[in-house]
Amino acid sequence: MERPRAAIFDLDDTLADSFQAPHPEMIDRLVRLSKLLPTAIMTGAGFERVQKDILSAFSSIAPNFFIFPNSSTQCYLFENGAWQIVYNHALTPAERERIKAVLHEYLETSTVMGEAPHYGERVIDREAQIAFTIVGVDAPQEVKKNWDVDGSKRRALVEMLKSKIGEFEILTGGLSTIDITHKDTNKAYGVRWLSEKLRIPPEEMFYVGDALYDGGNDQVVIATGIKTKQVSGPSETAVVIDELLAAFNI
Ligand SMILES: [Mg+2]
Repeated sequence: MERPRAAIFDLDDTLADSFQAPHPEMIDRLVRLSKLLPTAIMTGAGFERVQKDILSAFSSIAPNFFIFPNSSTQCYLFENGAWQIVYNHALTPAERERIKAVLHEYLETSTVMGEAPHYGERVIDREAQIAFTIVGVDAPQEVKKNWDVDGSKRRALVEMLKSKIGEFEILTGGLSTIDITHKDTNKAYGVRWLSEKLRIPPEEMFYVGDALYDGGNDQVVIATGIKTKQVSGPSETAVVIDELLAAFNI
């Protein structure tokens, strides 16, 4: 494998199973990699979850580590002994209320989706982003996996939402989730921001994600020119990181 000058990883279904913490071996791989080149996590998850599931398990803090939570609507860096927010393009309270009203109205009026069995919350307000999941945030992995195998349910939901709140960015992510953020503040924005910050062209950076397919929440990064690698899940990501480490003779 060629040596990229920076590496970016999606979290859900890339570094870890959906809404789960990565295995300690995966975190260890990330720490080792970040000592060799700038390393970033770009995820639909909020910063609190990244901190709890990943950063708190770091054996040492690497200065080269960037977190882009809530689909890159925010960026965090470790500076002066703490994780600091570098930029924040969160939704305003009025925007969040408008989005949530549309989602709740849909759940109340759709007999097929609205009345489907579900586990836990279906509308998750993370301030910078609203996540929407028909099966619920606490659904078992098997339920999430089998709910929308060909992606057609999520595509139909995205089309429906675009007709109502098309002024926002609406993308599918994970196995059963739709992420809603400000238009144009997405993972492609995060890639371009990091490219400028590091003064490294996107073409010399490397992105690993599970949703690089049409309509997936990783697909937007392709337009930046960044090299990409589609993975099926954490076990394949582990192999990719091992290949990267090997490229640096580690
Ligand atoms: Mg993912």
